[in-house]
Amino acid sequence: MKRALLEVPAPELAEWMVARGFPGFHARQVFRWVFQRRVEQFAHMSDLPKALREQLDAEWGVFGTEVAYHHVAPDGTDKLLLGCADGRRIECVLMAEGDRRTVCISTQVGCGMGCVFCASGLKGVERNLTRGEMVEQVVRLRNLLPPDETITNLVVMGMGESLANLDNLVAALDRICSPEGLGLGQRRVTISTVGLPEKMMVLAGLGRQYHLAVSLHAPTEALRNELVPINEKVGLGAVMDAADAYFRNSGRQVTFEYVMLRGINDRIEDAQALANLLEARKAHVNLIPYNPVETLPYERPFPSTIQKFVSIVRARGISVSVRKTKGREIDAACGQLRRRFEDRPVVAIS
Ligand code: SAH
Repeated sequence: MKRALLEVPAPELAEWMVARGFPGFHARQVFRWVFQRRVEQFAHMSDLPKALREQLDAEWGVFGTEVAYHHVAPDGTDKLLLGCADGRRIECVLMAEGDRRTVCISTQVGCGMGCVFCASGLKGVERNLTRGEMVEQVVRLRNLLPPDETITNLVVMGMGESLANLDNLVAALDRICSPEGLGLGQRRVTISTVGLPEKMMVLAGLGRQYHLAVSLHAPTEALRNELVPINEKVGLGAVMDAADAYFRNSGRQVTFEYVMLRGINDRIEDAQALANLLEARKAHVNLIPYNPVETLPYERPFPSTIQKFVSIVRARGISVSVRKTKGREIDAACGQLRRRFEDRPVVAIS
């Protein structure tokens, strides 16, 4: 089987070249073609010796995944379902809004956190994604853009618990953010986590400038235990302490995500409890109206309920935004597209 190019750093590819009698500097050219010039085939890398291109083509694939399904929603949101080398499928999304071009990537196949309302975790976690599989999601989505546009923002909010795959994720982000990669600013990357305190502390210690978003979803221990079962192990206090530490270490304000579920966590008392929890913190709240998942009983709150919730929290001096839903028509909420194709063979249309 061919090796996937984006799994290896440039020095490793250079070694491979040298071992076959080619100068190692060609490795940097190869990556420049892929990252900067959007070329997806070795044959098109015109400044490489022909023999090298053929040798590369025999042993390597520019991508290790294939596009199993590409859908464009009426609002322009692109959704890719990628088939991995082992046949597993992952999803990623490209959203355009004004000057922003935001990609949303997955970090695992499935998810082990078991949040009761989420499609990704319905069957548990199958495996972590490799660094290459994460980089590929970004490069493939970037390549869908017109030549004069590129990715401006990256959110790690697809399938999987990001911090459960921290090492590979950071390796992938380092590559995407490096000047030899896509040159994306670290401050334009948002990592969303269910809130794993130990991993949050490790991330804080790495000295990167990533923005952290913590999936709070409930303002009290009891309600959070119900909605986010992993909370029984970690506890709300530890999550908040780790979020505070992340802010202290990085200087970057933490966002708290709050999926709004009708009649469950959207009540006036929930808004008040959330305000109590966050009042003393320099934090931002992102309310996410629920995207219904087939077979799950949860519903999106009524718009008037969302508005009331917003005004209660805002009145206490806390910054609040309500997330716009993008790509709803194509099941852009984490894990939903993959689920729809679960038992069906998908025709490759790359
Ligand atoms: N494991 C990470 C990334 C998950 S996806 C985390 O927990 O943050 C990003 C966000 O989407 C999370 O806040 C997640 O709880 C939320 N989410 C999951 N399913 C959703 C749905 N059907 N509708 C709206 N938000 C959802």
